[in-house]
Amino acid sequence: VKKFEEILNKINFKKAIKLYITISIILVLICSFTMAYLSRSSISMAIGYNKAAESFEKTGLTESVKSTLSKLAADSKDVVNIIAVDKDNNILFKANSNLINSDNKFILTPYEANKKYLKDEKGTLYKVVKSDNIVLNKNYLKNHEKEVSDINEESYYERDMKAEKINMVNYLVKKDTKDKVFIVRNATPIPYMKGAMEAFGIILGLIFMVYWVGLALWVYKDANKKKMNPALWGLVALLTNLVGLIIYSMYKQNNKLCHQCGSLQSKENIFCTLCGEKLNESCEKCGNIVGKNDSYCSKCGNKL
Ligand SMILES: [Zn+2]
Ligand SMILES: [Zn+2]
Repeated sequence: VKKFEEILNKINFKKAIKLYITISIILVLICSFTMAYLSRSSISMAIGYNKAAESFEKTGLTESVKSTLSKLAADSKDVVNIIAVDKDNNILFKANSNLINSDNKFILTPYEANKKYLKDEKGTLYKVVKSDNIVLNKNYLKNHEKEVSDINEESYYERDMKAEKINMVNYLVKKDTKDKVFIVRNATPIPYMKGAMEAFGIILGLIFMVYWVGLALWVYKDANKKKMNPALWGLVALLTNLVGLIIYSMYKQNNKLCHQCGSLQSKENIFCTLCGEKLNESCEKCGNIVGKNDSYCSKCGNKL
């Protein structure tokens, strides 16, 4: 215990807190930038998708929308194809020839009873992904409540997507013409993302742990300095953290530090119980504690 207290006394907590905050901020920034870098192609995909979707909903399949879609397909590694069809499933536009039969139609039908999946005429499976899961706050299916209810929210990082050869599909519908655009993508997870997320989790956990234990150590040191029960207060802080700190501070406020030996004394004490230093003035007649500038005792009225 003595060695522990010696080490603790050597720690400059003010410096340690500054160092801790600096290191934490640097670590969180590094992690955030790493995640953003790893998902850079998904982010640019989301931005491109959003742009294409907005103009398609407004203007329909114009040349400018077609060129945006072509660019999206060319730039994103995971885009298999982007196919636009009219209400009778006739192909109006395709970014490349993947997935398409010769008959100029592209038809997706529900796969068995499971409406989360669609299949084309070749039998390839497509998992319907809500736009929200790729593009923030975009719900193109707002007016198709039944479809929305059929489509469960699925995470892009979903594990079972890795093993099976299933495409993901997002689709846009133009309300008046019923033209649709299918954006078909590979369900490949972002490389290194899983490991990066795990590492980020561990780092956040460590940062939190250092804070938690550090607070308890500070309370231990402070209580030790003020000749309180350091083990008890340290334990309270270790178990309850902030709540313990608040209780500790309130306890300290209701008491008084001896200016001679630094120990915590009751406010009512006239003398320090540890070093005998006089802490309060008292009335000679009744022993009541009186203020330094009082002329009369508040209890017995004795002139001081
Ligand atoms: Zn004292
Ligand atoms: Zn008195």
